[in-house]
Amino acid sequence: MSDNKLDQAALGRVGMMRQTQQEYYVMRLKALAGDLTSRQLACISSVAEQYGRGVVHLSTRQGVEIHYVHQDNLERAKQVLAEAGIEMGACGPRVRVIVACPGNETCRWGVIDTKEMTRELDARHFKAETPSKFKLSVTGCSHNCTKANENDIGIRGAIEPRWERESCTDCGLCLSFCPLKAIGREETNDGHGFHYAVDEEACINCSICTSLCPTSAWVVGRKGYTVFIGGTMGKVPRFASILKRIVETEEEVYELVDRAIASYRKHGLKKERFGHTIDRIGLENIMEEILEPELQHIRQH
Ligand code: SF4
Ligand code: SF4
Ligand code: SF4
Repeated sequence: MSDNKLDQAALGRVGMMRQTQQEYYVMRLKALAGDLTSRQLACISSVAEQYGRGVVHLSTRQGVEIHYVHQDNLERAKQVLAEAGIEMGACGPRVRVIVACPGNETCRWGVIDTKEMTRELDARHFKAETPSKFKLSVTGCSHNCTKANENDIGIRGAIEPRWERESCTDCGLCLSFCPLKAIGREETNDGHGFHYAVDEEACINCSICTSLCPTSAWVVGRKGYTVFIGGTMGKVPRFASILKRIVETEEEVYELVDRAIASYRKHGLKKERFGHTIDRIGLENIMEEILEPELQHIRQH
């Protein structure tokens, strides 16, 4: 069969993309949060041998791709992969496979359980139709390994530090080890002689102060998730905007993501990335729409 008879849009929905070479396709596989079992890797290897050219390509978004699959073998290869529990990825204007770092499961810097959050977001949104491609990332702390602020929605583990005067020896170390120089010291007339405070706008909620203070005078005040919206790289890059600096529960993150995607569906033009929709409609307007139910709740209580 000639490949111009195949439904390219339908193939794209399940992660199969036409190659430069006539009649050959890339099979993009789903590795949620970058995870595959060793058995699945063995199966991918065998499919690449049998139906591709024995090469597997790793994409920049934790995807695993088998190239050079002839169109006549696509269905059979897909079936073999499915038998090993390997799902296909996605292409085109829809929610793509979510990327995530290991988070606090194995990384000692991790503030949040990235895997659990990724599974829930995947169950809610994977392959949902959107005006253009839509990328989510979950990253366990401000080291930002999966680049939360380069995604349409990024979620980053965060802590909010609180200073405890009783434990502080006024050694001044935190003034230098805060990477954003967000900690300030003031002389006071209250009998203690000094006070340390954080500039909340400058702080990236990174936990360096709470980890490195020699007397534990910086403690974790609140812990949760920073939610970013509107990041994109590609042809017209845009760094994401902070939707909410500290979200304290997973449920609230899920609600914000639901509403952000709904807002994008409502306002986005075809092929327009979410960040560019935000710039066209206005960041304040979009933020108000996403956060409004919460604001109403706060106003009522
Ligand atoms: S973002 Fe943080 S938790 Fe995730 S891998 Fe990097 S250092 Fe570890
Ligand atoms: S590092 Fe800790 S003890 Fe030293 S000034 Fe900062 S808060 Fe105080
Ligand atoms: S959390 Fe990080 S950025 Fe914020 S005050 Fe502490 S060290 Fe500085």
